[in-house]
Amino acid sequence: MSKKDDDNPLEEIQKQLRDLMKNKNLQVAFAPFMQSSEDEQPAPPKEGEKKETENNEPQDDPLDSIRSFDRKPKEVRDYLDRFVIKQEQAKRVLSVAVCDHYNHVRRCIQDDRVQAAEYLKPNVLLLGPTGVGKTYLMRNVAKLIGVPFVKADATKFSETGYVGNDVDDLVRDLVKQADGNVELAQYGIIYVDEIDKIAAEGSRGGRDVSGRGVQINLLKLMEETEVNLHSPQDMMGQMKAFMEMQRGGKPKKPTISTKNILFIVSGAFDQLAESVRKRLDLNRIGFGSSEEQELSKSGINFLNKAETQDFIKYGFEPEFVGRLPVRVACDELTKDDLADILLSSEGNALDQYRKDFEGYGIKFEMGNPAIHEVAKLAAKEKTGARGLVTILERIFRDFKFELPSTSIRKFSVDAETVSQPTEKLRELIEDNQDLLDENLLEDVDRFVDSFKREHGLELRFRKAAKVAVVKEATSENRSVLALCEKKFKDFEHGLKIISQRTGKNSFVIDKKVIEDPDKELSRWVVESFSSSEEKE
Ligand code: ADP
Repeated sequence: MSKKDDDNPLEEIQKQLRDLMKNKNLQVAFAPFMQSSEDEQPAPPKEGEKKETENNEPQDDPLDSIRSFDRKPKEVRDYLDRFVIKQEQAKRVLSVAVCDHYNHVRRCIQDDRVQAAEYLKPNVLLLGPTGVGKTYLMRNVAKLIGVPFVKADATKFSETGYVGNDVDDLVRDLVKQADGNVELAQYGIIYVDEIDKIAAEGSRGGRDVSGRGVQINLLKLMEETEVNLHSPQDMMGQMKAFMEMQRGGKPKKPTISTKNILFIVSGAFDQLAESVRKRLDLNRIGFGSSEEQELSKSGINFLNKAETQDFIKYGFEPEFVGRLPVRVACDELTKDDLADILLSSEGNALDQYRKDFEGYGIKFEMGNPAIHEVAKLAAKEKTGARGLVTILERIFRDFKFELPSTSIRKFSVDAETVSQPTEKLRELIEDNQDLLDENLLEDVDRFVDSFKREHGLELRFRKAAKVAVVKEATSENRSVLALCEKKFKDFEHGLKIISQRTGKNSFVIDKKVIEDPDKELSRWVVESFSSSEEKE
């Protein structure tokens, strides 16, 4: 825990609250905060499990997912294969670490003696460039086991927690992720990225001076410590703790143990790869085994050759590195890997675009040549699989804006669409201009409904009038709704006058009205005057 927790600002705040609470009015105002923590929400469900039954049957114990965890490393690897392309070595190593850890956790839940025994946690140091699936691997692991997952960048923490965030916040966030279930949160996974950026000033020079302090704070969390559930900055939490203390009589400092939280720290470590390469180069002067020659072809492999001393030289505290016994590197993704992601990884970015278009009833096809073209452009971005999203967004941005307001419900994406999306979209719209879309006719009905809801007046569109509106909207490239609102902007006022004079609430809208709405409305108003005068 950080230094300021030892000073316990909580006591001071609680003392002030105690004084405040002598005021009877405040006791009433704070009553809603006095609910017990038992009201808190249950934890997230494990992959494939239902959190809650519709008919309010009793909910499963969130720890059941851990109690029933019986996967073997190969099964975990196979599960990860569904989502994560490549990274075979990382998948193997992580599967073993995760199975070991959650087998241990399961035994702890069943038997207190295991909990008390010495245990070396398989915390993981995950190396490799950005966007290659490091976080994605661990998110999927957490989903599979049914434990909460929290990720943060090491650079946002400061040694004291007064300037930047406090590392203890990570643990509190885990409790939030577990919907307040502390028992489940203590078995969650914390992922700290950009750890290479907090290597202390050393061989590389020029790094943030508080990096060492942050390492030490993280080290305490990785070992075993009790973290206060309420951050000193969290006034609401402080109040709740205080209210509970008032009710229970005894001062209680709610905490969570980090003993069984699994920590993953990760970073690109590009300069480390270079220094390992140099070390290996020096060692092999005059020899040059074929393995080393192989290694020099691909920089990233050097990370798998990094040893404890390399990390210490890089600027890490020996104890910190010592708490990260499992180390593995993820590989760079080639353009073929990126194509594989689009073709076979479950829930990949292209699937997301498919779903977005399906929301408007639009389907698209994308053949292999187009997918390889996307992968080729994405690889140039040098941001791993994140490049895929950048390229797909560039291709589909205008399609997403334009197509829902057209009659087009199907299109295909070829390699040319990937390189020239704007031109291909224009062609697509021009080729389909003559189609009349049922969906757009329904947009007219939506306008009619809202007009009736707002003004209590019915507009009965003839089919020809609807068709005319849709055609005009399409040719002007604006939405049916916007066109109707413009055409009928004076109708509320005019029709209300007519309604008052004649009692009429329903009006036929034919093609003439669409062609010149103001002229027709004026004619109707004049007629209503003469017909009511005739009556009088
Ligand atoms: P990082 O390595 O920087 O932690 P992420 O795991 O956050 O990268 O990757 C960003 C996104 O890219 C993921 O959410 C996932 O959708 C996709 N992605 C990255 N690597 C892979 C991969 N190897 N296989 C499938 N998808 C991937």
